[in-house]
Amino acid sequence: MPGRAEGYEELRRRLVEKLLREGYIQSERVLKAMLRVPRELFVPEELRHMAYEDTPLPIGHGQTISAPHMVAMMTELAELKPGMKVLEVGTGSGYHAAVLAEVVAPSDMPPEKWGHVYTIERIPELAERARRNLRKAGYADRVTVIVGDGTLGYPEAAPYDRIIVTAAAPDIPRPLVEQLRPGGKMVIPIGDRYMQYLYVVEKTHEGRIKARPVTPCLFVPLIGRYGWRPEDL
Ligand code: SAH
Repeated sequence: MPGRAEGYEELRRRLVEKLLREGYIQSERVLKAMLRVPRELFVPEELRHMAYEDTPLPIGHGQTISAPHMVAMMTELAELKPGMKVLEVGTGSGYHAAVLAEVVAPSDMPPEKWGHVYTIERIPELAERARRNLRKAGYADRVTVIVGDGTLGYPEAAPYDRIIVTAAAPDIPRPLVEQLRPGGKMVIPIGDRYMQYLYVVEKTHEGRIKARPVTPCLFVPLIGRYGWRPEDL
């Protein structure tokens, strides 16, 4: 029965098997992470029975927690490895940050080998709730939640091995390119307000940028200095 811990685990397992069959999950690492992170702790209480539907859900302030297939796909595209330092722009519920953390800092690996996830959210109330969710789910030590404009990145912890942007940008924010380590990768939805393409952006060791569109997608807007301006929306 959903509402009991065993119930959610069974629903999680079934969803993950579906994502595997559909090809969204491709690697052992992402598989393990999606099996471990309890999505029910990251959705509003009244929507908990929907936690293992493959759909985005409202989390307040006009924002959404991304659909599980999108979280799986972006995490696969990022090609994360344990020990990496990751920046996520758009914390929202904190769920995707927890999945990223479970890949770069797996629960069954000694903490001295852990990487770290920095995640930025512009809406303070969402950031606070995400911190609470991450604490409950056991990821507070592997994820740092920052309040601010993520289009400026977070230079304090740069450079990053990977950057994941979970809101739609009109263009690649320049500060994010600067804060990406040479040889690093960024996954980011780029386009207009109502349709975007998910891009994988690579920064070569020589510092050149290669961007490749992967699939159409739809995200809430990235609002900030190098994103959309509120008056454009
Ligand atoms: N990754 C989230 C889903 C994110 S929805 C999850 O797993 O739940 C996108 C989020 O990006 C929203 O919470 C929105 O407030 C935030 N956002 C939009 N523009 C931003 C900016 N410039 N900096 C930081 N966060 C931003």
